[in-house]
Amino acid sequence: MTGITNVTVLGTGVLGSQIAYQAAYHGFSVVAYDIDDAALDKAKVQFGKLVKVYTQQVEGAADGKAEAALERITLSSNLKEAVQAADLVIEAVPENLDIKRDTYTKIGGFAPAHTIFATNSSTLLPSDFMDSTGRPEKFLALHFANQIWVRNTAEVMGTSKTDPAVYRTVVDFASAIGMVPIELKKEQPGYVLNSLLVPFLDAAGLLLVDGIADPEMIDKTWRIATGAPLGPCQIYDIIGLTTPYNIASQGNEDQRRLAAFLKENYIDKGKLGISTGEGLYKYPKS
Ligand code: NAD
Repeated sequence: MTGITNVTVLGTGVLGSQIAYQAAYHGFSVVAYDIDDAALDKAKVQFGKLVKVYTQQVEGAADGKAEAALERITLSSNLKEAVQAADLVIEAVPENLDIKRDTYTKIGGFAPAHTIFATNSSTLLPSDFMDSTGRPEKFLALHFANQIWVRNTAEVMGTSKTDPAVYRTVVDFASAIGMVPIELKKEQPGYVLNSLLVPFLDAAGLLLVDGIADPEMIDKTWRIATGAPLGPCQIYDIIGLTTPYNIASQGNEDQRRLAAFLKENYIDKGKLGISTGEGLYKYPKS
């Protein structure tokens, strides 16, 4: 029991649409909010695609369960109406501090007093904007990974002001929608996953930049010597090179060398990873 029935997801882009659908798939009543009808039309298309993906990839989804999830999702472009019956609001609006602050200031006035707010922000800390929520004790981060139905970690990260009971409710909710909750004990930029992954990918990238090894050698070494299923260069291509480029371009001198290398040799040539058929590796058209 989580005490949560109605979930509102703000922003129906890449992650918001997945979070809304995953919650609906697991029986929650979901309002999916976005700024206008054009964005909601895109969301509808995205939910249709997720029905197909779940039907193919999620065990048990083929018996009408994936379709039935759609009936539990209501679309809205009215922020006040979208949050007025919410027990939990999950925010997945663009990664921009001003947009986040503005969103929380508004919903702080619209949502009932008991409503918990959770941000899915990847790079901002919840304490950066907890004051704009008007309810810092009912606010924390709940961070999902792309392809939520298979990459099902949910990193739960409170601030020094988050009520432990609220934290527990959100951990239980994460389990209830099929996630593996990762309970961070303190705030940490990058959570657990990106605190590990970013330096790992940087280290592999610098081996390429400095001409020490090629992608096959790097990945082969990592796979054989550690037993990991994938090497870092394979992971680059799955994520797509743009996100590592954006992160590295804001880093130290070595990271900026890596960013320049990725831009010149891959991004400027349209080689963005698996999604474009070529990145650090070439992928045959299927
Ligand atoms: P996105 O650009 O795909 O989607 C953002 C959505 O927010 C769009 O549908 C847009 O119309 C909508 N939007 C714009 N302004 C808004 C506003 N004022 N109020 C409500 N909605 C608004 O972004 P995304 O990749 O889904 O990222 C959203 C959040 O999720 C970010 O905080 C990001 O850090 C986080 N996140 C992303 C990923 C990822 O792999 N893409 C993974 C984990 C976390």
